[in-house]
Amino acid sequence: MRQSQLFTKTRREAPKDEVSRNAQLLIRAGYIHKEMAGVYDFLPLGLRTLNKVIQIIREEMNAIGGIELNLSTLQSPELWQKTDRWDEKKVDSWFKTRLQSGGELGLGFTHEEPLTALMREHITSWRDLPVYAYQFQTKFRNEVRAKSGLMRTREFLMKDLYSFCKNEAEHIACYDRVSDAYVRIFERAGLGNKTYKTFASGGSFSQFSHEFQTVCKSGEDTIYISKENNIAINKEVFTEDVKKKLNLGENFIEEKAIEVGNIFTLGNRFSEPLGLAYTDEQGNNVPVFMGSYGIGPARLMATVAETFADGKGLVWPEDVAPFRVHLVELSGGEAEIKKEADELYRNLTDAGVEVLYDDRDLRAGEKFVDSDLIGIPMRIIVSQKSLAEGNFECIERATGHTAYKSLPELIGQLTARL
Ligand code: ATP
Ligand code: MG
Repeated sequence: MRQSQLFTKTRREAPKDEVSRNAQLLIRAGYIHKEMAGVYDFLPLGLRTLNKVIQIIREEMNAIGGIELNLSTLQSPELWQKTDRWDEKKVDSWFKTRLQSGGELGLGFTHEEPLTALMREHITSWRDLPVYAYQFQTKFRNEVRAKSGLMRTREFLMKDLYSFCKNEAEHIACYDRVSDAYVRIFERAGLGNKTYKTFASGGSFSQFSHEFQTVCKSGEDTIYISKENNIAINKEVFTEDVKKKLNLGENFIEEKAIEVGNIFTLGNRFSEPLGLAYTDEQGNNVPVFMGSYGIGPARLMATVAETFADGKGLVWPEDVAPFRVHLVELSGGEAEIKKEADELYRNLTDAGVEVLYDDRDLRAGEKFVDSDLIGIPMRIIVSQKSLAEGNFECIERATGHTAYKSLPELIGQLTARL
């Protein structure tokens, strides 16, 4: 993409009312736009990054047999009354609205009810199980606190997977498989060594659920990490009883953390009231045993942003960066340099490398400040200096490390993992 066509402007200052670091940086770098507290728009750079995160999650869900679908946001009261989750005294996060023709609708804050009800048409026999169905779907939650930028918004995309199994044993195998997929997702997003599977208060069936918590100073949660077991316990369940039960020793480190993902055993909590059952091999009618598994892609993106940012701006790991290369030409209007940069842009793009090409007529200083702020992993500079060298000047955003590389070297390096 040519930067001259990218309409978004960078800003030196974030909006005064924005307190969270992820939103301050993402707004300044032109990734997102703030509509109001807890509501953001994704601009072209932000959308590219979000889509990278989504694609990582999608690949890992597909790899464990997940089947993608998409359910509506609009929810009818009757369904949610059956599970006792329509009443605002029970669930305080609803956004509700009125139909012109009379009656109420809700904007879904999660999707256990509609998916369980829908599955009654598809799951009838033991032969139909297990099923792993997932979606990337917009949730609405009337969150009380919305001060953490993209980490807690009132409208957000969620990857929610629901598992439907014959019994608890089959469910446990599925739960572990999803848990392993989550580990791979957070590794690919660059957060592997900061993210802990964490015991948290129970799902509807089991004593514990698990959260995936990324250590981060701005995190809302407090966790206790057992390094030797590579696992953590959320403060909300960190009692002597639980410690003894989990047998994780006595060495715990307290940290602030962000819940980037969440996995739950639901058991029959939804299948029973909504009547999702199957016929087993002996002809018995048995409720389907369920689990649910969420990740917020934008919260994950915000966590990556906060984790790696430095004094100059964002620093994206390769797999979630909006582009792989930021090509900056410093031609100062000189045709030969411009031509060289245009050619490199074409060559890299033809080789399948995603390039943001700063072809704007601006001073070097301004281009570099923007480039640092936007945080693309590799900057390639085409200038009088690189022309004299006969090679391209490449600077790593994360380390500042500089090297001169030829076109074949560059293409070899940048396409190695495509
Ligand atoms: P939290 O404890 O942070 O309020 P939750 O336990 O209600 O989240 P779930 O309902 O399990 O979250 O949602 C699954 C995932 O969706 C969370 O792990 C998180 O990554 C993401 N998520 C939840 N709420 C929000 C929100 N308001 N804004 C952005 N992402 C969210
Ligand atoms: Mg939670």
